[in-house]
Amino acid sequence: MLEAKSLMVFYENMLALNNISLKCDDNQIVGVFGANSAGKSTLMYALSGIMLDIQKKEAMAGGERITLTGDVLFQNQSIMDIKPSLRAKAGIILCPERRRLFKESSVLENLRIGGYLATKTQAKQTLNYILEVFPALQPLKKRLGGFLSGGEQQMVAIGRALMAQPKVLLLDEPLLGLSPLMQTNLIKTIKTIQKENKISVIISEQYARPVFPIVNYAYILENGAAVMEGTREELMDNPDVRSAYFGV
Ligand code: ATP
Repeated sequence: MLEAKSLMVFYENMLALNNISLKCDDNQIVGVFGANSAGKSTLMYALSGIMLDIQKKEAMAGGERITLTGDVLFQNQSIMDIKPSLRAKAGIILCPERRRLFKESSVLENLRIGGYLATKTQAKQTLNYILEVFPALQPLKKRLGGFLSGGEQQMVAIGRALMAQPKVLLLDEPLLGLSPLMQTNLIKTIKTIQKENKISVIISEQYARPVFPIVNYAYILENGAAVMEGTREELMDNPDVRSAYFGV
């Protein structure tokens, strides 16, 4: 499905991703765990192609030089040079860190904006589905994005990404700032969404513990490098991982 091969990203001379190879198969949930600055967002930008836009913008503004090497493959074809809008059209949809909702627009408007790639029927069906899978949004449909709690904002952000008809959903730190209860509920819903829509999900987080129950496979990033990887069971059985990432 979606794969990175020996991916390197430099911001000027600073190495942000160091030789990352990662794979997410059909119907899989893959976790990417790492502390602040480990490179999680950089990886998400490289996979979704947004890095190409950032790179272009920096070059035009005479800013820092961003260099990308290695390869990104989608359904076994290289998409390294494919721009982000076309990757989105193909089904690679990023739900960015910190949600980035339109604060002056209502929940419904925020969701509909995500449907620009969908047909009218798809948009209608997906909207109904979102309100079913996130029933808390039902009474908030007219509320402005800026007047939602963090958890509600995250539901809208995931909903907006679903409106774009993803085949692979990239979730960059979706649990950021949520209460433990909200985190648990959201993770369960992410699993439901993955299963019911038969999509793939790559999810990045600082802390592995709340996400771990739903991942099939996970990578641990440190300073831009994948220092460990394995299935959920393999990582759970690894005492180093248990002490470093679960505190047990
Ligand atoms: P966080 O949890 O804080 O979001 P992260 O794991 O997503 O962290 P990245 O945002 O990918 O990490 O950052 C990786 C490294 O690259 C960090 O050292 C960061 O300071 C650096 N970095 C990110 N964006 C840029 C940029 N545009 N220019 C220069 N350095 C950058």
